[in-house]
Amino acid sequence: MTSSTAAKTRRREAPADRPALLLAWYDRHRRRLPWRAAAGERADPYRVWLSEIMLQQTTVKAVGPYFEKFTSRWPDVSALGRASLDDVLRMWAGLGYYSRARNLHACAVAVLNDHGGIFPDTEDGLRALPGIGPYTAAAIAAIAFDRRTMPVDGNIERVVTRLYAIGEPLPQSKPRIQQMAATLLGPSRAGDEKSRAGDEKSRAGDSAQALMDLGATICTPKKPACSLCPLNEDCAGRARGDQETFPRKAPKKNGMLRRGAAFVVTRGNELLVRSRPEKGLLGGMTEVPGSEWRAGQQDKAALAQAPELKAVARWHRKAGVVSHVFTHFPLELVVYTANVAARTRAPDGMRWVAVATLAGEAFPNLMRKVIAHGLDL
Ligand code: SF4
Repeated sequence: MTSSTAAKTRRREAPADRPALLLAWYDRHRRRLPWRAAAGERADPYRVWLSEIMLQQTTVKAVGPYFEKFTSRWPDVSALGRASLDDVLRMWAGLGYYSRARNLHACAVAVLNDHGGIFPDTEDGLRALPGIGPYTAAAIAAIAFDRRTMPVDGNIERVVTRLYAIGEPLPQSKPRIQQMAATLLGPSRAGDEKSRAGDEKSRAGDSAQALMDLGATICTPKKPACSLCPLNEDCAGRARGDQETFPRKAPKKNGMLRRGAAFVVTRGNELLVRSRPEKGLLGGMTEVPGSEWRAGQQDKAALAQAPELKAVARWHRKAGVVSHVFTHFPLELVVYTANVAARTRAPDGMRWVAVATLAGEAFPNLMRKVIAHGLDL
């Protein structure tokens, strides 16, 4: 047996202690983030919660200044719970997905009024709060309270499916990913599943943050830097050479093409907008008025759903359509424009916003395309 074969055999006989390797790597390479506690210090549940809510659908870079603004103005959850919703929404402007800001405020009020300003320290207790789903509850429980649970976000899904070469596609593979991710948690006090911060041997929060950091900086979607990875000797994806193909995803089921109309109405330098219902697709986001989106909808039927504005004598149809692909269906919108007189009132449920302040509105990408098309931006 050659020495390298012997080494490989030894590795198979004694699998690497992945949790320990991961923690050792984290101790040397952890990212410095504004909401993260210094090494060895206990994380503040308020800062962990605030950052996790802000980071949903948003990058670390974009969140940084908002996190600083919020924590300067409201240094703890009780202060945030006493703030008005309007102030919170104003401070949130530009971060998008405004339903998160409403839930953030509702959660702070609940922690203040129902829990005396102290976050519950269990996953179940956290999940009962507004705006906290399974992932966020696990992240707070692990990072702030060292509960032995592994939150699984997109970064962690990628690392785990590569490490174990999990070929089953998402989302069916989620339970298996969760199960394998949990094996990467650091050690706990023997027999104590609920080990907590303060127990020297429990570093559940660090294990979770180590995997998050590994996914964000080394095990990246394209060209993972496997040579720098602390788990590279025992990575099934790397051994197969097809690590970039994980996580596998079920082919998208593209629904039928839906069609509709969007109405870009200006009043001088203002644009007519409304908010979408809180629940459902693009919930709570801002849009210009529009028709329903239906498969096979004719232009005439879509135009008949234009907002009731007596001041509009005739809608101008813009050439072309705005196309967008949602997860479950593609969409084509015909865009109509109109300019109305200075004192025209907004129909019920709609409002005028200055074109100069559109960047601060919670428009989804689709609406940004519609407005750019309608206003020739
Ligand atoms: S070895 Fe490469 S593919 Fe495997 S976990 Fe590390 S970075 Fe990801």
